[in-house]
Amino acid sequence: MTAEAFLQDFHHVATIGATPNNGVHRQAGTDEDRQTRDWFAGFAAEHGWEVRVDGIGNMFALLEFRPGAKFVLIGSHLDSQPLGGRFDGAYGVLAGLHAAARIEAKVRAGGELPPFNLAVVNWFNEEGARFAPSIMGSSVYAGIMDREQMLEVRDLQGVSVREALAGIGYLGTDEAPEPVSYAEIHIEQGRILEREGLTIGAVDSSWYTQKLDIEVLGEQSHTGATAMADRHDALVAASKIVLMVHDVTGNFEEEALVSSVGQLTLEPNSPIVVARRVHLVADLRSNSPEIVKSARDSLLADIAALAEEHDIKINVKDFDIRANQYYPESGVELTEKMAANLGLGVRRIQTMAGHDSVAMNRIVPSVMMFIPSVDGVSHCEREFTTDADMLAGLDALTAVAAELVNGALLEDEGSVRAAEGDATSAAGANS
Ligand SMILES: [Zn+2]
Repeated sequence: MTAEAFLQDFHHVATIGATPNNGVHRQAGTDEDRQTRDWFAGFAAEHGWEVRVDGIGNMFALLEFRPGAKFVLIGSHLDSQPLGGRFDGAYGVLAGLHAAARIEAKVRAGGELPPFNLAVVNWFNEEGARFAPSIMGSSVYAGIMDREQMLEVRDLQGVSVREALAGIGYLGTDEAPEPVSYAEIHIEQGRILEREGLTIGAVDSSWYTQKLDIEVLGEQSHTGATAMADRHDALVAASKIVLMVHDVTGNFEEEALVSSVGQLTLEPNSPIVVARRVHLVADLRSNSPEIVKSARDSLLADIAALAEEHDIKINVKDFDIRANQYYPESGVELTEKMAANLGLGVRRIQTMAGHDSVAMNRIVPSVMMFIPSVDGVSHCEREFTTDADMLAGLDALTAVAAELVNGALLEDEGSVRAAEGDATSAAGANS
């Protein structure tokens, strides 16, 4: 398929759930999510590919070259953050579909029949915005999250994953294809490639991450009538925690630790009531597990002191701890080689964000590639990548996937890919 066809499809999909400032709003299990899924299924149908939907809403478009052979999976996710960017995830799925079409055309034109089949995948709920945790569909597929438990996860309105998927007609019952390897291409979401003028990042590892679930329990009272000395204002304490989570990064070298509170819910959230309860989620990430652990310990000590000072109760729980993950060396080398063959500038790079490939890398050799993000911004409407970089990435993915269906990387099968054994959650990565 041509470069123009890819760009046309990409920019068409970006109109689904489009927001006023060139972003998209397509949270998992919503009607906008359904529309992109229908589009994906339509693309597959046009190419005569079978579509399967598994029990957690992952969609697979199958190109079966050899009935019974295992599948190389390529893809990413079509869901987005609220007011998110149009490249995050969608680019990888669209590139996967077009790479598959190109590989199929080559085989149909008399090329050698590859030993493995190819499937393009749209993973369910990579973003984890509406339903936590993130990387849900691929983690269930990889056997590191429990399907039944994930189907019971509810959004803030009380709607479960099961109800949301059934509601849009994508709670499937199909058997998922059996994988042999995986490749994903994604925007970098940082500015390293842009800064260095390179087109392709060969991702070699992911950062150590953890979240802190923080519940601040004050006492509900009248914002007018209650004396200041008698107030146990949960929001005041929570606000100090937000700043602590930000400021703790200053204890380490610049960029060694990143950390923010991204979610905060307030009860009862009434203009004339002192807050009774605030629930916050802090997200801490570093390449170094020691740095995350040290930041977490110092936050816990500061929060305990804060609770005492404000005479309120604060519960803090560790969750979603994800160890550094290392992609197989042969996959990193494959990306470097294919990029060089195409005349594209390439470097090794780490990912601070989680991706479906981190979950997949737990079960099969996986390749992760980046293309540049203008200004390094993501999870916002301003997210941008040029058409030229998207097309270069599509060429690189096509070349890598063509090698994978011919059996590349299989010498790594069975190797231990998780370098750190101390993850308390089984999950592969967070987005
Ligand atoms: Zn993504």
